[in-house]
Amino acid sequence: MATEPVYEMLWDCPRCDTPKLLGVTHRYCPACGAPQDPTKRYFPKDEDKVALTDHPYFGVDKTCANCETPNGANAHFCVSCASPLDEAARVTLKDAELADGRKAPPLAPAPAGAKGAASSGGKGKPRPAKKGGMAGLLVGALVLVVALVVCAGVGAAVFWKREAGLTVAGHTWQREITIEQFASVKDDAWRADVPANARGVSCVQKERSTKKVEDGQDCQTVKVDQGDGSFTEKQKCTTKYREEPVYDDRCSYLVDRWSKGRTARAGGGLAETPTWPVVTLACTGAVLGCEREAGRTEKYTLAFTGDDGAALSCDVAQAKWSTLPVGSKWKAPVGVLSGAVDCDALAPL
Ligand SMILES: [Zn+2]
Ligand SMILES: [Zn+2]
Repeated sequence: MATEPVYEMLWDCPRCDTPKLLGVTHRYCPACGAPQDPTKRYFPKDEDKVALTDHPYFGVDKTCANCETPNGANAHFCVSCASPLDEAARVTLKDAELADGRKAPPLAPAPAGAKGAASSGGKGKPRPAKKGGMAGLLVGALVLVVALVVCAGVGAAVFWKREAGLTVAGHTWQREITIEQFASVKDDAWRADVPANARGVSCVQKERSTKKVEDGQDCQTVKVDQGDGSFTEKQKCTTKYREEPVYDDRCSYLVDRWSKGRTARAGGGLAETPTWPVVTLACTGAVLGCEREAGRTEKYTLAFTGDDGAALSCDVAQAKWSTLPVGSKWKAPVGVLSGAVDCDALAPL
């Protein structure tokens, strides 16, 4: 079934120490007759590889529950003690290895018949992945601590408040009218976004974005335990990518349009009745040099002296602003770090 080359796993006889016995050929130690211990199987170095040709693969070996002798997957009775093998457990598979002996990243499909033993490496040597896991955990914990400290700092700046007594110290108001002017302005845009009435368009090619393009394959040979004393070598390939610039024309041009001109302001204290500034427009209509109104804003500010002497302020609605006399006493939550007054919570002291 497998088109990948198949090789013998190796094992060292635990009884007489004969090394590099063959996983498929030597089911028993040729020196002392001890049965092969599947947990002692290992991947050979490249120079020790012994190829198997036309190796029939039946599945992962079963361990006899009675005498612990490994049996081929197609056996129904133990070759050693003749116990039935219907309930026998599959032998544990070795973790896949790279050519240099490092543990391979997980391969998607397990070999057929390995399902029962898929949770490989439950017992035996500690797995190198654990070490990386510890380091990862440590870095994760550190990141978490830093994040918590930052959150606590931000939280304190925003939410740490105290109830402060406030005395009204003064009143100011400000009213503004924004005025736009129809004018020739310089602007720039990507070619597709240049307005139809643009003049003097000049474009240069610029990098607008990048795109990912395939850039060959990264391949590694991975040794995969078949669980019957043999292993295969598979190619595990991942596609590499590189970033490639995407170019477009960036164009600069002149265009006639409404743009921010000037701001007319009026302001004063409680003694001056709030009024809008008087605006005289140069001329009206979409003609070069003409003007139009583009929005009004008004602001009514109460100045307070805090109970600790700090100068504080609140922007409030005009009706409220005009009815709070100088010297009247109020209370509101004040940010301990920011000094910002929670003006919506302003209440009589
Ligand atoms: Zn032996
Ligand atoms: Zn047996």
